Amino acid sequence: MSCRSHFFFLTIKIPKACALFNKAKSKSSLKMRHRWLLIHILVWITAVPSGIAQPSDSQKTQGEPGVGWHNSPFLQETPSPIKSWSEIKKENNELTIPPPPPTDAIYVIKKGDTLRGMMSSYGISKEEIAKAIRALSKTFKPRHLKPGHRLFLQILPSPLPSKPASLISLDFAANAKTDIALIRDGKGKFVAQRYARVLGRRIAFGAGTITSSLYQAGYSEGIPPTALLNLINILSFDVDFQRDIRVNDRFALLYERLTDETGSTADVGPVIYTRLKLKRRDIELYRFKINGKKVDYFDNNGRSVKKLLLSTPTDGARISSGFGRRRHPILGYTKIHKGIDFAAPAGTPVYAAGDGVIEVAKRFGSFGNYIRIRHRNSYKTAYAHLKGFARGIRSGIRVRQRRIIGYIGSTGRSTGPHLHYEVIHNKRHVNPRGVRIPTGVTLKGPELKSFNAERRRIDKVIDAQRRNRDGYSIQDND
Ligand SMILES: [Zn+2]
Repeated sequence: MSCRSHFFFLTIKIPKACALFNKAKSKSSLKMRHRWLLIHILVWITAVPSGIAQPSDSQKTQGEPGVGWHNSPFLQETPSPIKSWSEIKKENNELTIPPPPPTDAIYVIKKGDTLRGMMSSYGISKEEIAKAIRALSKTFKPRHLKPGHRLFLQILPSPLPSKPASLISLDFAANAKTDIALIRDGKGKFVAQRYARVLGRRIAFGAGTITSSLYQAGYSEGIPPTALLNLINILSFDVDFQRDIRVNDRFALLYERLTDETGSTADVGPVIYTRLKLKRRDIELYRFKINGKKVDYFDNNGRSVKKLLLSTPTDGARISSGFGRRRHPILGYTKIHKGIDFAAPAGTPVYAAGDGVIEVAKRFGSFGNYIRIRHRNSYKTAYAHLKGFARGIRSGIRVRQRRIIGYIGSTGRSTGPHLHYEVIHNKRHVNPRGVRIPTGVTLKGPELKSFNAERRRIDKVIDAQRRNRDGYSIQDND
């Protein structure tokens, strides 16, 4: 075996040596020993200088204890100027086997994944995972990772299979606006950092015809839901969405779109302009900053869209009884109905129709649970048959428009869950639907001038957007 393994070296320089050795095999063991030694010396002389510089894999295994010929007692006794295999191997390991390079990995979070499990699948030790998670948690709670989150990892593989790999860094987009990076500081400790993503701003135009609802029509035109909700909020002072909207009413809006580096919508900015063409009304509103500070929406004449009172202080209700003369459903005789009844499921929130001070919030005879708010300009609003009051609502406190004050119920003299809503002006009941009292903010002087300049600018943008859009739609039809 020993001869065969070295035959490769011998055949070139001393082809007869092995043949000699093979012959010697059958002779006495003493003779054989001498020849064997001779062969080994020849091997050293011939093999060592050419073969050591770059040990091959087969050479590496020869160097292992008990396997190779270098364990021969003869060699051990003779100190050799030539380095031992173990020394050579050691040096060469240091010289020619570089540390493994860091590897990059992308991991997409799936349902049921944990950060711990994910990291351990890359061979990172439990201790290191614990440290990494602890550092990360200071900036980002790992439980907020959702399926679809893409994690970018940099891992230092272990040089030995028995040792764990090491995490160099971990980063991912926490949401549309924030990136999180877990990195090592100068001492190798994990630190997590949060970076605000730089989003681009683009103007987007949307328009459509209503078939069922404004929201539905906008959604099918590809307008982001957030922009539509902003739009509905702005229009809610002027429009009762349950009753004023008809099929074939048209709408248009200009809004800001915040884009990420790929150009896709990461977030939605404010609505800049909107137009709603109803059967009897044409509402056109522009966003404008008063004194460069407070943002509001104004019509063509510079009048604020904000109204003193909401015409409907609840969402999604239907009018079960209008204002005026009617036959009372319980008492049976004709009398004036001094408010509007909105039927909606019990528990539906009721809003303060405008800024004001709560005058009454208590059980009040046939009205059941009852709230009355005093507003500016000698206006009051009243809310009856409430299931209950919202937290913190009591007489004497100040409320803002749209704050939830109570919930629709059927307390007092009532046939089913509904809100009885009254508007009182100078102690006289008025029809809530006819009340569109502006807050009084009308732009004047230099403010009106700069508003008009802004309005012209917005109009130009709309014209350009409309032209672009028309161009596209013609192409689409072809
Ligand atoms: Zn009523």
